Parts: sequence; structure tokens; C-alpha cells
Amino acid sequence: MKEKTLVLLKPDAVQRGIVGDIVSRFEHTGMKIVGLKMVRVTPEFSKKHYATHVNKPFYTGLEKFITEGPIIAMVLEGLHAVETVRKIVGSTEPKSAAPGTIRGDYSHHSYAYTDAHGIAIKNLIHASGTSEEAKTEVALWFTKEELHDYTTVHEKHVF
Ligand code: AMP
Repeated sequence: MKEKTLVLLKPDAVQRGIVGDIVSRFEHTGMKIVGLKMVRVTPEFSKKHYATHVNKPFYTGLEKFITEGPIIAMVLEGLHAVETVRKIVGSTEPKSAAPGTIRGDYSHHSYAYTDAHGIAIKNLIHASGTSEEAKTEVALWFTKEELHDYTTVHEKHVF
């Protein structure tokens, strides 16, 4: 049940200066940060990360957005981490994201607006969608040396 998941704080989160707020939300659940770095994504790497979306109409805008400034990449570990992180992050479209979720609280972009203007949806975060996807994405973004093993005080209460 204990698993790792990949979280990216996209250029909008970094440029808006809300990285600390977002990271705190994850930390407060008791999940553990086991990897964290600032990265400038290249178009080539974007195509690897978004391999399943490369041929979709929204990919051009998505690549332009994800490469426009540095992002924060991190790996979180915890029980059902993939599901737990997705729940905290909220729906992909900020307009539809529930209050209390990160996207619902910090953004309000809509597909209606982004489709009409040919731009990417500014939804702050990428989070792995399934446990399988998480394994692939963690391996794509982090080397073994960049992933750390330590004990948090939360673990005393969780395990
Ligand atoms: P996902 O793999 O479903 O997490 O989607 C990855 C990213 O692609 C999302 O975070 C959005 O930035 C973008 N995306 C997914 N679906 C759409 C869509 N229907 N229209 C525009 N962008 C999308």
C-alpha cells in the first residue's frame, strides 16, 4: 500500500510564488517528500513525459506552457499516495475542481476559455494518475541517487 508518486508544480505555481503553500498541503497529510528539485523542461523531455498526449490538439499549448519557466518536481511517498495526492490536487479543470482542493482553492481557469484562446489550462500541478504511471514517471524524472530514505515523525503514527 505504501507507494511513491510524481508531483510537478508547473510554471504557473512557481511564478505565482505559491510553491510553499502547495508543498505544505502535501506535508500536512503526513506523506513524505523523498525527492525534490527545480527543473527547466525541454520540448524533448516534455514529449517523453506527455507521451500519451503528444498527438492531442491541446499538446502544442501544453508544451509551450510546461517549458516556459522552471518547475518543481517532487516525489511523495505514503499509503495510497497516488490516490491521496490526486484527491488533494482536485479535478484537471480548475473551474470544476472542488473547494478545498489545491486547484479549487488556487485557480479558476476553464476549458471554455483555454480552448477559445488556444492556450494551456493553467492548473498548477501534474500528479501521476495510476500506480503504474507513477512508477514510470518517478523513474523518468529521478535517478535512484536523487530519491532519499529517512524516517519522519508521522511514520511512528502511521505504521
Ligand atoms: P493528465 O495526463 O490527464 O493528467 O493530463 C495532463 C495534462 O494535460 C493536464 O494537467 C492538462 O494540463 C492537460 N490536459 C489534459 N486534458 C486536457 C484537455 N481536455 N484540454 C486541455 N488540456 C488538457
